[in-house]
Amino acid sequence: MTSTHPSPDAPARALVELDDVSKFYGSIKALEHVSLEVHAGEITCVLGDNGAGKSTLIKIIAGLHRHDGGTFLIDGEETTLANPRDALDRGIATVYQDLAVVPLMPVWRNFFLGSEPTKGTGPFKRLDVRLMRETSRAALLRMGIDLRDVDQPIGTLSGGERQCVAIARAVHFGAKVLVLDEPTAALGVKQSGVVLKYVAAARDAGLGVVLITHNPHHAHLVGDRFVLLKRGVMSGSHTKDSITLDELTRQMAGGSELDELSHELERATGPESGPAQD
Ligand code: ATP
Repeated sequence: MTSTHPSPDAPARALVELDDVSKFYGSIKALEHVSLEVHAGEITCVLGDNGAGKSTLIKIIAGLHRHDGGTFLIDGEETTLANPRDALDRGIATVYQDLAVVPLMPVWRNFFLGSEPTKGTGPFKRLDVRLMRETSRAALLRMGIDLRDVDQPIGTLSGGERQCVAIARAVHFGAKVLVLDEPTAALGVKQSGVVLKYVAAARDAGLGVVLITHNPHHAHLVGDRFVLLKRGVMSGSHTKDSITLDELTRQMAGGSELDELSHELERATGPESGPAQD
């Protein structure tokens, strides 16, 4: 009888895999032939400048848009997600930059937004406030997030703290894959460090993380895999041990285009380009 268990040496199956995926908006090519893998306990970074196709990629993984070409696999099974709810049901949680929170509501209320536990029945049915308070505090602490007070309105937290709450929320509600849309884009150095710490905590909790960023320093600090996008096309795909921070930065900054520009600038400021001498 043959065993159905994979051999211990077989590479682990990806939680999410895009293989040669393309997406067109009418005649606009937003993504073409993009491939990436997201594994449990790993961080896959997607790097790209404005218009590179990062948002389009998120929308496909989050179930907002459908891909036009290639294959999208979840747990090895070819999939086309119907909508974001479908993605969530399959364990894919997405944290957008403009976090969908109600600023005047307390942290615990935002933590449970849309999934509020209740107690009592019939006309006595009401929100289980105590459970929400205690559970949210405990879930945040488990991730190492020690807020002064879960009763404070979430709008009074710093941008970094709000990102951390959103990450802890996804972990608490059992996400297997966490997609983070430029979580450090609007943050200073210190707050970015804190958020990256919780991104790593989500990875250590066994989630597969997709980190969208245009910052190679942040990516290289925590990433295991790197996919570079340029104008919708994959311009590089690396693992951590195959690329240095310097090389990642160079490729992100334009690589050969930058070298060409520097040669042109040198030529323009070189001796031949100076005013004619007689
Ligand atoms: P940014 O960092 O500026 O948000 P991005 O890397 O997220 O950029 P996308 O928003 O995915 O890039 O856009 C990729 C390309 O697809 C761009 O040329 C963009 O103009 C185009 N595009 C994105 N969404 C649409 C749409 N709904 N209709 C038409 N074109 C679109």
